[in-house]
Amino acid sequence: MQGAEPAAGVLYLVGTPIGNTGDLSPRAKTVLAGADRIACEDTRRSGLLLHNLGIKSRLVSFHEHNQATRIPELLEALEGGEAIAVISDAGLPGISDPGEELVAAARSQGRTVICVPGPCAATTALVSSGLPCGRFCFEGFLPPKATARRARLQALAQEERTLVFYEAPHRLLAVLEDLLELLGDRPVAVTRELTKRHEEQVGPTLTVALEHFRQHPPQGEFTLVLGGAEINAAERPSDADLRKQLQALVSGGLSSNDAARQLARSTGIAKRELYALLHQDDDTP
Ligand code: SAM
Repeated sequence: MQGAEPAAGVLYLVGTPIGNTGDLSPRAKTVLAGADRIACEDTRRSGLLLHNLGIKSRLVSFHEHNQATRIPELLEALEGGEAIAVISDAGLPGISDPGEELVAAARSQGRTVICVPGPCAATTALVSSGLPCGRFCFEGFLPPKATARRARLQALAQEERTLVFYEAPHRLLAVLEDLLELLGDRPVAVTRELTKRHEEQVGPTLTVALEHFRQHPPQGEFTLVLGGAEINAAERPSDADLRKQLQALVSGGLSSNDAARQLARSTGIAKRELYALLHQDDDTP
């Protein structure tokens, strides 16, 4: 069972909202309110969030340009028994945001590091995309320069897992054009302004999304969820084999739905395709 939080000498990574302030968990609030120091990317922005929550803990800036000096200071404070919370401007620290170097340094000194989980744009976009979620590959931001970006995309062309990217609005069209040219017209969910009033998902293919954003210039925050490469037919088990595996799972006590989900996870084949395969003879008179 969890003791009283925050505990002395512990580093807490605290997830904060990616738009909707209602998504800050009660536990996050307790840890932030009780922390001796909160390390944050932007003291003004986080100061406002904390002010609105009535939290008065001490804020210190922690970002990529000062972490080399901040990390030793924060480690010393942990050593001295302070409870320290780390937050980023939005979402989970460490996910395309500062945090991982501090965590690595704290762990290497034997400090306890605890994550108080919260929203993350990547997983929020993924689960609402309709694309396979069982296996996915988070790529963060693609390189901003076209040559490096295109090289990265070429390296990802054979990746069969669903791909998740963060992207800035002013680069969205160029990225969609590169994706279409280099990876083909795949299924995509271009998610915008997740958890906010103007949340939307645009797809279902790269061609349709590209056309949409040519008509409606991209604004706001974007996360892209892209279908993985088609599984090589030579590697894919035959439908008869897949059906046998599904039937074995059902005989073992799983529902059709769970059997399809489990096999989808291990093969990367879409769950609805497997579910249909299991029931394909049901309609035969
Ligand atoms: N740490 C954050 C997380 O856990 O999701 C990500 C920080 S990263 C610097 C910011 C990027 O995340 C944005 O440029 C955008 O690509 C994505 N993002 C953040 N909030 C979003 C939202 N509400 N809707 C869509 N994408 C979002």
